[in-house]
Amino acid sequence: MCGINSMKLGPPIEVFAVNKAYLDDTHPDKVNLSIGAYRTDEGKPWVLPVVRKTELQLANDETLNHEYLPVLGLEAFSSAATSMLLGADHSAILEGRAFGVQTLSGTGALRVGAEFLARQLGYKTFYFSQPTWENHRLVFLNSGFTEPREYRYWDANNRTLDLNGFLEDLQGAPENSVIILHACAHNPTGCDPTHEQWEKIAQVIEEKKLFPFFDSAYQGFASGELEKDAWAVRYFASRGLEMVCAQSFAKNFGLYNERVGNITVILKDKQDLIPVKSQLTLTVRGMYSNPPNHGGRIVATVLNNPQLYDEKESIRTMANRILSMRSGLKERLQRLGTPGTWDHITSQIGMFSYTGLSPRQVEHLVNNYHIYLLKSGRINMCGISTKNIDYVAKAINETVL
Ligand code: PMP
Repeated sequence: MCGINSMKLGPPIEVFAVNKAYLDDTHPDKVNLSIGAYRTDEGKPWVLPVVRKTELQLANDETLNHEYLPVLGLEAFSSAATSMLLGADHSAILEGRAFGVQTLSGTGALRVGAEFLARQLGYKTFYFSQPTWENHRLVFLNSGFTEPREYRYWDANNRTLDLNGFLEDLQGAPENSVIILHACAHNPTGCDPTHEQWEKIAQVIEEKKLFPFFDSAYQGFASGELEKDAWAVRYFASRGLEMVCAQSFAKNFGLYNERVGNITVILKDKQDLIPVKSQLTLTVRGMYSNPPNHGGRIVATVLNNPQLYDEKESIRTMANRILSMRSGLKERLQRLGTPGTWDHITSQIGMFSYTGLSPRQVEHLVNNYHIYLLKSGRINMCGISTKNIDYVAKAINETVL
């Protein structure tokens, strides 16, 4: 027991602290490259047109009400989310071995999946990439896992994937370790394995009897193509591996604060589906009883309506804006003759770029240029626009020189 008045101050959550420092700064040229949210070229948050249209349609639908959803959420949502992830014609779906559970965004999906594995099945050890999204460790520990471990991922010298280190760490992992894998657009490095590298990773996971837990927070948002960004998950599932995948609809639908997520569970044997679903029902029941309706209904309406689905073009708009900011930034740094190589800015994928800037250089950018980014050198490419790209490039150039 610890008395409330002897409680120690918890450490700040870096990304929120940096975001607040940006908001509090009154400098006219300030730039926010910290928090992971999409911004338009005007630096504004964006409600996707198809989302706005669907919201208006739902608001006018007198048949809808605010009754509780079932514990596992809207079936129309979770099955559409599972199909979006695996492809509707994936053998795991056709054979009745895959299903989804609506969750509180991607974080909630990770939490439900982790708690199910730890408390219902007794898994203890989890591996996350070095580096990874800062919340993986906390979510898994709070879910009942007791053995946090890292696998090598990022080769800082060459700014690429450390495949050998990654495979060696998997080889040395004890049987039944859960391996957290970023489905695409790895956060924070923006560096994904190639198809051949994924094949090697899957091979070791299978041989060593490890349990793959995918985290898919950026499907479609990374390349602009839902199918392309789901390649790794679909490949693992096609090998017949038992696995789970947490899905977030925060980025690809711009529904950050509506907390729309899904956990897809893929089993080897169809007969396990009903008992697994019943145990997951108890996991959710004891955690938050049932999920909210608004965002799940929007996504379900869009995904289940071919005409609206086609209007989801906005995903491509977002991905393309990021790609053009990546090439624009690299081009400018090269033109300025900024020391170092900058090819990684365009070879990395998704929202983030791991710039390679040191903590001292980051401090310099914050203090002298009012450009806010994480200590690790991670920047959110969406914070760059046609209006501030020259300023950002010059600031990085002056900082590195
Ligand atoms: N996983 C990763 C890798 C992420 O980057 C994020 C969002 N920052 C999430 C999961 C979960 O986000 P949310 O809970 O907002 O869906």
